[in-house]
Amino acid sequence: MRNNWIPPTPLEQMANTEYDVLIIGTGAGGGAVTWRLCEQWGENGKKIGVVESGDFLLPTQAANIPTMNSERMGKLHEYVSKPLGKFNPEFQGAKQVFAFGGRTLFWNAISPRMNLFELVDWPVTFQEMESYYDIAERVMNVSKKYTEGSSLTEILLNRLQQSGVTEATATPIAADLGPAIYGQEGSDVFFGAINFFAKALNHRQIDLTVKTRAVKVLVENGEVVGVKVISSEKKPYILKAKTVVLSASTFETPRLLLHSGIQGQAIGHYLMNHSFVLANGTISREEFPEPLGTLSILIPSTRERHYQIQLRGPNGYFWYQPYQVKPFVHELEITFFGSGEVEPRFENKVTLDPNRKDEFGVPEVQIDFSFSEKDLSIIREIAGAIEQVSSFCGINKPSICLMPPGDQNHDSGTCRMGDDPSTSAVNRYGQLHGIKGLFVADNSVFPSIGAANLTLSTAALAIRTADYIIRQESALT
Ligand SMILES: Cc1cc2nc3c(=O)[nH]c(=O)nc-3n(C[C@H](O)[C@H](O)[C@H](O)COP(=O)(O)OP(=O)(O)OC[C@H]3O[C@@H](n4cnc5c(N)ncnc54)[C@H](O)[C@@H]3O)c2cc1C
Repeated sequence: MRNNWIPPTPLEQMANTEYDVLIIGTGAGGGAVTWRLCEQWGENGKKIGVVESGDFLLPTQAANIPTMNSERMGKLHEYVSKPLGKFNPEFQGAKQVFAFGGRTLFWNAISPRMNLFELVDWPVTFQEMESYYDIAERVMNVSKKYTEGSSLTEILLNRLQQSGVTEATATPIAADLGPAIYGQEGSDVFFGAINFFAKALNHRQIDLTVKTRAVKVLVENGEVVGVKVISSEKKPYILKAKTVVLSASTFETPRLLLHSGIQGQAIGHYLMNHSFVLANGTISREEFPEPLGTLSILIPSTRERHYQIQLRGPNGYFWYQPYQVKPFVHELEITFFGSGEVEPRFENKVTLDPNRKDEFGVPEVQIDFSFSEKDLSIIREIAGAIEQVSSFCGINKPSICLMPPGDQNHDSGTCRMGDDPSTSAVNRYGQLHGIKGLFVADNSVFPSIGAANLTLSTAALAIRTADYIIRQESALT
């Protein structure tokens, strides 16, 4: 059988099974929920099904493929993505990846925690969040060791700290840096959602179908009963389930809920995405002894500064690219990634487009988005801060560019978590207000986003939702 590195289950067989939990989507959220349920339940007889609309595109995060480099990876991502911007000019940079593993096939694995002060309005305690961050970091191999020993990272970090930017740190990255010893093989340095499934399969079997699109969530008397899916041959099936977890992304999860006629004032609203300021500067190679190594520095947000800045490089060589020849150059190119906080506002939203449908007959998404005055003033601050940081580091004055909204893939908030059903779509555990057994576990649950990259937090919250489902199930038995 083709692509049997992870065994799929025939859809006919899944349609004859009653699932305890059915998960829709295999990106960061879907992967984390599946792993946690499998790890905690083991072979306990519960039935877990997973539905993915895309195919098996790659067997691992793209940078783990030895023929890949930054340029080829970028082009492949572009080639396989569905651009949302074509029909949504207000969110021009947004792209979707429909494939097993979701967008983590192409992500950069940058995995900071959100600052605890950024969680004050969340219905989750700091202590709880900290313990779920610990679990997510362990399973995703997050550490600050990726750039250890790199003169470029260590010297620039030192210059920043000497200039008073004491919070600057080596970037936490989800990468397995363990040595390949005792006959173990390390072929997947960078973590991606596929690793969640690899780890899950060591605990138990799951039923997985790809090229199967979930089109409607089925609810009877306030309780979820299953999901209608359509195969790539356009054949419809009903998959029965006591619990359904939607992990189809910021755009697709509210789309599914709205198309299913599920009511909720906040569903699709409060769309966020960090503002994204990109800059490039240069620094002399002569300032750094061997080994030069890779640059990855994070300047996190503070209570006063509602943005984070990352420094990466040199010359696009962020990935380990084992076979890449790196010629000696006299000028190193350093890239700055500035991410600004964006307010959760009701008017920024994902709705169903009344005029466009996809091949399955489901209305396409329509996006309304604009920056608030506060968002714009944060963007201006980021540009000033990048200039300051480059002068602290001795980097030549960088060229600075504001990227289009949606570009950074930190879209979120469209099924936000909260206690009040008039301002949130799901409760503190990710369960849809008023619908038993229906959960959301993906980027859409964030009530606010601070300035840090989101995926570690998505995984932490998804693991927490899985634990809640487990507790609910045990209460019933
Ligand atoms: C180039 C790039 C770099 C990035 N770098 C970073 C980074 O360094 N750090 C960071 O934190 N984040 C990064 N991200 C963002 C990160 O990838 C996302 O935050 C994360 O993947 C979101 O997870 P998710 O589960 O919400 O959605 P996704 O990963 O988008 O997964 C959604 C899944 O649902 C499936 N699906 C959708 N609709 C349906 C349906 N109707 N039926 C069945 N299946 C469906 C999709 O095919 C997909 O598999 C990056 C993203 C990209 C593209």
